[in-house]
Amino acid sequence: MSVFRDEEVVCPHCGKEQVRSVAHSINPRRSPQHYQEILSGSFQRVRCESCEQSFVIGHPFLFLDLPHWWIACYGAGEAQEWRAREQEAQEVLAEAGVAGLPHGLLQGIKLRVVFGLEALREKLVLMQLGLPDVALEAFKLCVEKRADPRSAAPYRLRLERELQGQLHFSIQHPQAREVAQRALPLAALLEYAHGRLFSRELARQLAAGPYVDLARLVP
Ligand SMILES: [Zn+2]
Repeated sequence: MSVFRDEEVVCPHCGKEQVRSVAHSINPRRSPQHYQEILSGSFQRVRCESCEQSFVIGHPFLFLDLPHWWIACYGAGEAQEWRAREQEAQEVLAEAGVAGLPHGLLQGIKLRVVFGLEALREKLVLMQLGLPDVALEAFKLCVEKRADPRSAAPYRLRLERELQGQLHFSIQHPQAREVAQRALPLAALLEYAHGRLFSRELARQLAAGPYVDLARLVP
């Protein structure tokens, strides 16, 4: 089941405090409508009762597709603290085992840490395609033609959806306000992933913790 609680949130536009239904955990099999909302970008998006502008509630929650995936989704603004959040997510998962979640549900479960709903959506799109996230992150480096992972830091290439054999990405550059769009053939990623056209060392670095993201390679 999915868990929501009424909590006070603050509108980022006008500062008005208001009580909203805030997600704490989402079970996509029991709540397919929330799964669809994450894919469409409308999940936890609300309209301020005072200034009427829309905003996304950035409260952390768990996306629990047991026994396959345990994804801790934090606010997009917390990405700098990924090391601490990784540790926290690992502890929460370990405690869930102690607290009596059936062992069979947690054995072999894949833990991921993501920051922001766009990052969560990217993982869900990959799951639908049956592709590993390590391959996508390595593919992003290849797309950017950046041999050195550290130089990829200023760019945020984010997979948004797959449509008729095309992968649609958004590209956010910190110095530019607008988000650019880019489409690439799905076949290119399939060839890259299935052919394992990336080094073992890069794969090892990307999968060194549950935050499988190029940002973990940046010192
Ligand atoms: Zn407001």
